[in-house]
Amino acid sequence: MPEAPHVVVVGGGVSGLTAAHRLRGHGAAVTVIEAADRPGGKLQASPVVGARVDAGAEAVLARRPEAVDLFEELGLGDRVVHPGQGSASLYSRGRRRPLPKGQLMGVPGDLRALARSGVLSWGGVLRAGLDLVRPRTPVQGDVSVADYIGTRMGHQVVDRLVEPLLGGVYAGRADRLSLDSTLPQIAPMARTERSLLRGVRTSLAGRGKAPTAPGPVFASLRGGVAGLVETLAERQGERLRTGTRARALERREHGWRVHLEGSDPLDCDGVLLACPAPEAARLLREHVPEAASGLEGIDYASMALVTFALPASAFPGPLTGTGFLVPSGEGLTVKAATFSSNKWPWLAEEVAEANPGEDLVVLRCSIGRFGEHATLQRSDDELAEAALADLARVTGLSGTPVQTRVTRWENGLPQYSVGHADRIERVRGAVGRHPGLGVCGAAYEGVGVPACIADAGREARRLAEGLTAHPHTTDATDQQGANP
Ligand SMILES: Cc1cc2nc3c(=O)[nH]c(=O)nc-3n(C[C@H](O)[C@H](O)[C@H](O)COP(=O)(O)OP(=O)(O)OC[C@H]3O[C@@H](n4cnc5c(N)ncnc54)[C@H](O)[C@@H]3O)c2cc1C
Repeated sequence: MPEAPHVVVVGGGVSGLTAAHRLRGHGAAVTVIEAADRPGGKLQASPVVGARVDAGAEAVLARRPEAVDLFEELGLGDRVVHPGQGSASLYSRGRRRPLPKGQLMGVPGDLRALARSGVLSWGGVLRAGLDLVRPRTPVQGDVSVADYIGTRMGHQVVDRLVEPLLGGVYAGRADRLSLDSTLPQIAPMARTERSLLRGVRTSLAGRGKAPTAPGPVFASLRGGVAGLVETLAERQGERLRTGTRARALERREHGWRVHLEGSDPLDCDGVLLACPAPEAARLLREHVPEAASGLEGIDYASMALVTFALPASAFPGPLTGTGFLVPSGEGLTVKAATFSSNKWPWLAEEVAEANPGEDLVVLRCSIGRFGEHATLQRSDDELAEAALADLARVTGLSGTPVQTRVTRWENGLPQYSVGHADRIERVRGAVGRHPGLGVCGAAYEGVGVPACIADAGREARRLAEGLTAHPHTTDATDQQGANP
């Protein structure tokens, strides 16, 4: 029997750990190297008033199968939880207002509901309605979210609805984000519909007629969604090396050599780069310059999450809903706040159990949009103070936290700017010409956890199949030689 190919996965976030899991399933021997002292990347949890609370990603989209299927596959099915009742609101024009009914990623499909919500001024609602009578907006190639939606419905819809909703995923700006890559539900309408509003309405009506109940939109794990990477890391065992950074790649006659900071290099048949784009670019620069250039063009947004545990009595009344989003023009520092104890009933239970008789609630505030460097220059204490002031303004809070946790995510979220899909196609085309080399992760085909899992699975399979079909090939020329 031929020896199992050895693949080194660079990066132990959810993408790298999933890829390692899949590669092993395809018969490869795998080593994961992770620069940080702990695995998991953007998935991380730590205790707040005695209960584990996610400090990075906190939920997965359950309407896509990849993450929920992986939970089941890993035996985590009994820990799966869904958000409790209630929805998020929007802090717009000086107060919290319900998200208008009948919208898709903030794009309204119901003018009356939009007007009733009070999120836009009357002028803004009228401008949105002009979409119904305006001629078709020709869209050739990719455009920015603000370009297309702003042309159809005006800037208030972009600034007060679409950008805050997109901000939750990308922390990005609508005038830079790609319509095709960040709003795949809306992008086809730009090519087929004259009126965007009608397109959204038709799309939502179609969903309403779907034959089966769609089920909860989001899922997580009791104890935090970080449990996913912890389980994957456990399965990896000693083949996961933390505190180990890949310094450089060297092409060998047979396979690759991965040079590490502070330890001996690793020789392998394949390398899968599951690290953020700037690191992947640096490692690829010498061997695949075209891919490196493409990856260097991907910007990242930094952000901070401030988690508070507060006495419920600090609020003027019971907190309702799961939190609120804030458009950038409202003069607040936070861009969103999650009422974690409301959103996740399991967390409320655990906080109550760990703090009998205290009635504490947990909230997470998110700070930092793409380009807001100055905001994040502040110290942790200043960020916490600003977040508390914003909570006071929006909810009437007037109390002192029992515990505060500030988590920084520098360059945490890749920005899918206009032309992203073409860029990624070029990068993948260039990488694919080098047998034994692969790339996956949040920078490519979706930043959400399920998208990362899907990407890791595809790339692991491609790499494993290539290594099995053409063992010990080092470049495209060798491969052609081996396959007349
Ligand atoms: C604050 C925040 C909240 C989020 N919330 C959600 C959410 O609720 N739901 C959701 O679906 N998505 C969410 N996301 C997005 C999602 O969590 C990430 O896109 C995803 O986890 C990225 O996984 P990854 O493995 O591709 O990258 P990462 O998690 O960035 O992992 C890459 C790893 O590579 C390591 N590395 C880098 N360079 C090297 C090197 N040279 N050698 C070795 N290791 C290296 C890094 O240390 C890191 O651990 C959130 C993101 C952030 C920042």
